[in-house]
Amino acid sequence: MRRRAFVASGFAFLATGACAAVRSKDRLVIKGTMEQGSLALGYADPKATVKIDGQAVRLSPEGVFAFGFAFDQTKPSLVDVIWSDGTAESQSYTPTVRQYEIQRVNGLPQNTVTPPPEVLERIKREAGEIYVARQRDMPGSDFLSGFDWPAPGIESGVFGSQRIDNGVPMAPHFGVDMAAPTGTPIRAPADGTVSLSADHYLNGGFTLIDHGQGVSTSYLHQSKRLVKDGDVVKRGQKIGEIGQTGRATGPHLHWAMNWFEVKLDPSRSARKAKPDPL
Ligand SMILES: [Zn+2]
Repeated sequence: MRRRAFVASGFAFLATGACAAVRSKDRLVIKGTMEQGSLALGYADPKATVKIDGQAVRLSPEGVFAFGFAFDQTKPSLVDVIWSDGTAESQSYTPTVRQYEIQRVNGLPQNTVTPPPEVLERIKREAGEIYVARQRDMPGSDFLSGFDWPAPGIESGVFGSQRIDNGVPMAPHFGVDMAAPTGTPIRAPADGTVSLSADHYLNGGFTLIDHGQGVSTSYLHQSKRLVKDGDVVKRGQKIGEIGQTGRATGPHLHWAMNWFEVKLDPSRSARKAKPDPL
């Protein structure tokens, strides 16, 4: 019976789910597409204590919490709840397995595929800054109303594909690529707070937006960054422009989503269909 709540997925689940879920007779409701690499939303009594795989998570004043399924996760995520009346409940949720494609990308600047030794220190430092920013556990729940696509464009890269860059096998592609001309506006897909904005060697013009409770989105290869650390952004606000900076063969936006360090597919949290290419 509880299954119904999480197979009823799709683009609209975030926008329409909240009220119905809280009124449900089930005390614990989990919603999302429930696939590998997707964000799941939980609803419980705000006075409850919730642990995901043994780790306590923050609940919003409305009792909302978030967690993510890893891109290659085959084991269930365990949700343990201790209710305010002292009773306990455990549920496990196993993500649907996805098939990822293999994508060969040629023509990348060779110094971004096999970076010269003198920039390795810089790449490590920049990865460390992103790691720290993604560890933040901010109280808001700006992720709750779903995400708009941040830019129009041709979807030139999908989440989870095995990348072979200039013939070199790389880590899987953890984001969605939107190819569009340099200068195309990038808009915040939901409210949030900028937790990092900087020019990076591999990422190029990089911005990270924190949407609360460990949920963040990031924007890579920008030609222009229009927001800085600490800025509060609103859904639809222009935050930058598409470019070809860092490891890129052409102008595009690499759009990524995380729950802390768990890499997620932002297309699975989109509340509307993708806009047409320009
Ligand atoms: Zn990409």
